[in-house]
Amino acid sequence: MAERSETESRKLLGRLREAMAEDSAGQARLDKIVHLIANSMGTEVCSIYLFRDEETLELCATEGLNSESVHQTRLRMGEGLVGRVAKYSRIINTDNAPSTKGFRFMPETGEESFTSFCGVPIQRLGEKLGVLVVQSKDTRDYSADEIYALEVVAMVLAEMTELGAFIGEGAALSARHQQSVMFKGACAQEGAAEGNVWLHEPRVVVTNPIADDPEAELNRLNEAVDQLRIGVDRMLEGAQGGDKEQLQVLETYRMFANSKGWMRRMEQDIAQGLSAEAAVEKEQSTARARMSQAQDAYLRDRLHDLDDLSNRLLRILTGQGQTSSADLPANPILVARNIGPAELLEYGRGLKGIVLEEGSVGSHATIVARALAIPLVIHAERITTEALNGDQIMVDGDLGRVHLRPDESIVTAFRDKIAMQAKAQERYSSIRDKPAETPDGAIVELHMNAGLMADLPSLPTSGAEGVGLFRTELQFLIRNKMPQRTELAALYSRVMDAAGGMRVVFRTLDIGSDKVLPYMTPHDEPNPAMGWRAIRVGLDKPGVMRMQLQALIRAANGRALTVMFPFVAQYEEYRAAKAEMDKAMERERILGHPLPASLEIGAMLETPSLAFAPQQFFEDVGFLSIGGNDLKQFFFAADRENERVRRRYDTLNVSFLTFLEGIVERCHVTNTPLSFCGEDAGRPIEALCLAAIGMRTLSMRPASIGPVKSLLRRTNLSELKEVIHAAREHGEQSVRPAVMDFLRTQS
Ligand code: PEP
Ligand code: MG
Repeated sequence: MAERSETESRKLLGRLREAMAEDSAGQARLDKIVHLIANSMGTEVCSIYLFRDEETLELCATEGLNSESVHQTRLRMGEGLVGRVAKYSRIINTDNAPSTKGFRFMPETGEESFTSFCGVPIQRLGEKLGVLVVQSKDTRDYSADEIYALEVVAMVLAEMTELGAFIGEGAALSARHQQSVMFKGACAQEGAAEGNVWLHEPRVVVTNPIADDPEAELNRLNEAVDQLRIGVDRMLEGAQGGDKEQLQVLETYRMFANSKGWMRRMEQDIAQGLSAEAAVEKEQSTARARMSQAQDAYLRDRLHDLDDLSNRLLRILTGQGQTSSADLPANPILVARNIGPAELLEYGRGLKGIVLEEGSVGSHATIVARALAIPLVIHAERITTEALNGDQIMVDGDLGRVHLRPDESIVTAFRDKIAMQAKAQERYSSIRDKPAETPDGAIVELHMNAGLMADLPSLPTSGAEGVGLFRTELQFLIRNKMPQRTELAALYSRVMDAAGGMRVVFRTLDIGSDKVLPYMTPHDEPNPAMGWRAIRVGLDKPGVMRMQLQALIRAANGRALTVMFPFVAQYEEYRAAKAEMDKAMERERILGHPLPASLEIGAMLETPSLAFAPQQFFEDVGFLSIGGNDLKQFFFAADRENERVRRRYDTLNVSFLTFLEGIVERCHVTNTPLSFCGEDAGRPIEALCLAAIGMRTLSMRPASIGPVKSLLRRTNLSELKEVIHAAREHGEQSVRPAVMDFLRTQS
């Protein structure tokens, strides 16, 4: 970089800082800045466009274009060269603007006389804020040095915008982080919550983007990077022998922390006049812009790693963001890009709601949020850049919507909704100790699904008659090493204690597919949901299953024990698993440990094949539980985690209900106890239909028991069964419309 251009750039930044320090209005500052830039670069035009809403850019200040067009000229994202710079977060530099792809003529600005154009995005940490443009009459190719200087200026403008230096009249100059914003995400855990934002990754604000002593800034950067490297090395030492994925991430951190390219770019930024933290943030912004465009998942992950590392460095440099959960606001709603299951558990039940930018319905964090019954919205794009700690926030987990800094009207409507839900809860608690008995005398047993010790307190308050599914894998997923037998035995024993004699169905480890244990060698499978998972792993590598069965027998310590094997696809698998249980019992007997007073062994029916197993299987198996989540995905060949297809087929589709009815009949013939424990059991309409086709035991999230019981107690199942059969005879695809009509006539 030429020494002269560095000095020029520093001079310009120095003047910008003076402009910022002046006690003037936002508009006056902007006017001064465009004037300064145009002068410093010797170019006729300099303009600043800022977003007035997510889609519209507005000309906010100009030197050289028609001053009447300020605040009048507007462009949509992607429109004209300016709109394209914003849309693609890419610089456009041309000496012949009119013949450049995307050019749009704006007569009101008088720009027709300017042929050369250079536009640079104004962006901050992946958020698009506007565009900085220079233009000139003569055919001029802005040099690499000049463009670099413009980028640095754009970065400073972004920081100034964030700091509120340009607040003025109109939408484009309105204060940031104050408007009400609604985010449309996806629902991962139902429920509504109101509270205050708690950012999982605290936001760092750079208050001094410009510095005049590059030497001192370089020293600050070097010291901070040294500290960062030491920290990463320490983390690496601590992680040796543990979680492989975490190790890989830390190795990548180390690689970046020692990357010469990264350091060189930041040093150049400082030489141009930026402070050390502004240099870090500039590179972070560039990486974020690339991240949003990157198609390749591996590259995206690495850019994420760089982003995390930059955050660490910023925290070291500014001393900000060293908050602890002791600072949690009242009614905290966690806002994060993503979060791991163990971190989420650390926050625990104190959280009122969770909003993630990423996440998936089947992720471990989602499983934990569900277990804790905390409303969760995923895919709320950009919320971490928009939300500030302490902001008022409302989470609608039913619709997947989030209202940040909501208006009065939204607050009122939302509170009404919460009040209605609370009223419904009151109604449910009044029937808590009553059976789920229908007016025509059918009794349906309602049980709850659980997976954590934290779930058990809900057992007495929910009105459940037991735990119909205890997902044991959660205990394995939230640790970073294999739990020990004694640890597991103690935990299972506490679960049984908490259940106070009610039946708990322990499902043996269901790993593989989406549930990958961090401390087991990952197997790259083309289709893990149909791969080496659950009982398949348990039978091929029986060590863990044996340990788990032993832990269960010891936990029972003479009490009744119920064990269920997941994902059994054929009779033989059940027989082999049961033989393992027999062996475990025998071993415990020889060792002199007390054996369970009674032992029930069952299987989950999660693959269509098992519905067609020989009669002997149905006679042999202690009980069957339909894992509707998996069964449905295999029945319709529609991935339960794929947003594109997961809602495509209705559970009340005639084919699926007919199939389920067939299973009910087979169990009836052999007198095999049958239950249903997928998510659909907790949806009142679906639960009603399952009961109508003959299911008498349903297991669901604790919060669903009240609504399901309430509806069952009001519905005549034999009439509903006729409605279902009539809809099938009419050739309907789904029985839902007919069922809804029937229920409307009932209420
Ligand atoms: C199911 O598949 O329906 C089930 C209950 O198991 P999981 O959701 O844990 O796969
Ligand atoms: Mg399953």
